[in-house]
Amino acid sequence: MKIGILKETQKGEKRVSLSPNISKQLIDKGFKIIIEEDAGSNSSYKNSDYKDVGVSVEKRGVVFKEAQILLKINPFDEEDLKLIDKGQILISQLYHKSNPELIKAIASKGATAFSLDAIPRISRAQDMDVLSSQNNLAGYKAVILGAYEMTKIFPLMMTAAGTITPSKVLIYGVGVAGLQAIATAKRLGAVVEATDIRTETKEQAESLGAKFILVDNEGEESEGGYAKEASEDYARKQKEAVNKSLFQADLVVTTANIPGRKAPVLITEEQVLQMKNGAVIIDLAAAQGGNCEVSKLNKTVVKNGVKVIGTNIAPESVSTNASELFAKNIYNFIIHLTEETAFKWDLEEEITDETLIVKEGEIRKN
Ligand code: NAD
Repeated sequence: MKIGILKETQKGEKRVSLSPNISKQLIDKGFKIIIEEDAGSNSSYKNSDYKDVGVSVEKRGVVFKEAQILLKINPFDEEDLKLIDKGQILISQLYHKSNPELIKAIASKGATAFSLDAIPRISRAQDMDVLSSQNNLAGYKAVILGAYEMTKIFPLMMTAAGTITPSKVLIYGVGVAGLQAIATAKRLGAVVEATDIRTETKEQAESLGAKFILVDNEGEESEGGYAKEASEDYARKQKEAVNKSLFQADLVVTTANIPGRKAPVLITEEQVLQMKNGAVIIDLAAAQGGNCEVSKLNKTVVKNGVKVIGTNIAPESVSTNASELFAKNIYNFIIHLTEETAFKWDLEEEITDETLIVKEGEIRKN
């Protein structure tokens, strides 16, 4: 079974779906691997790094022609679709619910497609979960970006010229990204507070040294341990509980999401206007509509001296680590789906069933 690694075509994308190290692990399991030339160059992997572990480096057209499995991080695009053949197995993040046209196009080719963003969030799928591995890096990078944009330092510093008090950081959403943001801000010496609609995150936030701002969530629904849309009553109670910290914060990182829905607005323009001059908000939910009312994706909006940066941070800004973790997730996924390099097609099994969006031209999930 030959796996083809394609160079990412989405603007700004620097990651690659398989690193040389993980390619070697798949080769040791009996797979053959072919990569489009320069596919790893933006993640600091040279063509020769792949060749050294037994991967063949070829032009784009050859990869499409020879590979039985095609790997990409971002959804396959129109140009890719022209080159896809019946019987090929595509693996990438397809976001099938918001991309019905793409799914139809793949099906019309008679191809098969697995979507990595549809991996169920169950314990045994944790090592395949690309959303977690990339969100973790996003949480780290959000704080680093914030530190760069702030006009203050994080730690307490006693100097002959006087004492600098530590910066105050507030994190909304204590999921994968939020926990890493807490840990990073703490390591840099900030005083950190955090809040989440799921009260079970209190202990996790505190174990990393943050003060948890508890908001009464009675009557709020959750599903399988994940947040659902909060009521207006909860939003009001959250503002009451968090505003004091928000108005004193030097850096705010928002990471709150609701699976499959638009991100909740947690900070209104009116609240931004009451924040400290020079404060920075990094809105990691900007691509899902934003947790801050004034944020705009990939833009910095300055409101009354507060910098609001809407970003989906780009795990590609740490593309070497992001590619390595993504690759390990893909490795675990492929090993899970196959036996001695042949697909098992166990459709009764939850991970296979949930991720198999198109099978030999037939759409299984809408
Ligand atoms: P996410 O990115 O969907 O959301 C981030 C956080 O925002 C969540 O903690 C959520 O509760 C919070 N949030 C949503 N609405 C909010 C509101 N109105 N106010 C405040 N906070 C709000 O979540 P995530 O980081 O992907 O994961 C959440 C949980 O799932 C974590 O505990 C994680 O450990 C777990 N998880 C498990 C697996 C697995 O078992 N395979 C994989 C990934 C995540």
